[in-house]
Amino acid sequence: MAYVSFPYDAPVSQTLFDRASLVTPGGVNSPVRAFRAVGGTPRFMVSGTGPYLTDADGREYVDLVCSWGPMILGHSHPEVIAAVQEAVARGTSFGTPGEGEVALAEEIVARVEPVEQVRLVSSGTEATMSAIRLARGFTGRAKVVKFAGCYHGHVDALLAAAGSGVATFGLPDTPGVTGAQAGDTIVLPYNDLDAVREAFAAHPGEIACVITEASPGNMGVVPPLDGFNAGLKELCAANGALYISDEVMTGFRTSKAGWFGVDGVRPDLMTFGKVMGGGFPAAAFGGRADVMAHLAPAGPVYQAGTLSGNPIATAAGLAQLRLLDDAAYAGVDAVSAEIRGLVGEALAKEGVAHTVQAASNMFSVFFTDRPVRNYEDAKRQDAFRFTAFFHSMLSQGVYLPPSAFESWFVSTAHDARAVERVAAALPAAARAAAEATA
Ligand code: PLP
Repeated sequence: MAYVSFPYDAPVSQTLFDRASLVTPGGVNSPVRAFRAVGGTPRFMVSGTGPYLTDADGREYVDLVCSWGPMILGHSHPEVIAAVQEAVARGTSFGTPGEGEVALAEEIVARVEPVEQVRLVSSGTEATMSAIRLARGFTGRAKVVKFAGCYHGHVDALLAAAGSGVATFGLPDTPGVTGAQAGDTIVLPYNDLDAVREAFAAHPGEIACVITEASPGNMGVVPPLDGFNAGLKELCAANGALYISDEVMTGFRTSKAGWFGVDGVRPDLMTFGKVMGGGFPAAAFGGRADVMAHLAPAGPVYQAGTLSGNPIATAAGLAQLRLLDDAAYAGVDAVSAEIRGLVGEALAKEGVAHTVQAASNMFSVFFTDRPVRNYEDAKRQDAFRFTAFFHSMLSQGVYLPPSAFESWFVSTAHDARAVERVAAALPAAARAAAEATA
């Protein structure tokens, strides 16, 4: 079945972007939304239903971003909307404890076995920032190990990335992060246990924690090699450091218990966000009760938030999590596999070098025929082919992440009709990728 291509201008989005650019740096409130990596006018969305988004010019897109992961039930799921409406009717914020926070914490603890206690916050950044503060407070050590290509939000100490090399001290990645803030961060290549071993040997008794994405999705999807997470856990335990698994992206998405449900490696601390907020700002960190006991007001490590555990956000998150049973995950996994297959087929047909990588239902397409195991590998792809592919898909009504270094996301709402629309757009997009020049 043929679908009509959209004319490729977006006058209303362009007008909004022009207005936005006058009052907001770069016209957006989070950089990747600005389409800088692919060029063109970012689409201003006005509504979302199921697997579709509608932009300000009235065009509908199959959404393969799902708000960067949270919308695992699709947009405007009636039960989530009803829970939000019911909560809103009772008031929007009280600044006191409330039952919704307890219920959401209980749901997280019940799903993710290593989480004995959990603290709710409002963003993934806050979750990782608080988790490393707690790890430092608990161990009395300063240094933090992170991996190049892993993103943990815009925490100063975690915005450090080194060039190649082993056990390199991080240099600030962005102006505004001082050497002092990044100086205790050790950046290592992902999937390289020897590098971690060497870092522990070089800094005995100094490393508070190793933080890693449970299965990275922020350099494209680069799953841990067999034994990598287990090796990290072992090295941390042997050296008195905490193992922090950042499940902001994978949590409650890659299985009922997130990536822990896939690999079973037991972290000391974990961080969550995205899916657990049902599209609202809710996030969390949690783990071993003896570690969490160091957090104020139970312990001395300070952490707080005016809107933490907000009643609307907790109602949305809880409603979403309660709908995410085994059947829901099976459905999302199946639609992800189907779309991955279609993308691979279309690119192969046009002779475009590519590698599709997946972690449960998260996936991305690298424009290289070599497997991608770390950030250096990811950067070696022909990103210019992604740009051509992206714009062809966009012009045909399929909304992909506007960067070659991001995961694609699907939902339980991506039905046969949505998949068919993706399938119909792929041949032309694959041809555009094949014809692209650097
Ligand atoms: N950790 C991971 C793995 C993420 O993917 C993100 C955001 O994409 C964050 C932390 C930061 O979360 P937030 O954007 O809610 O601050």
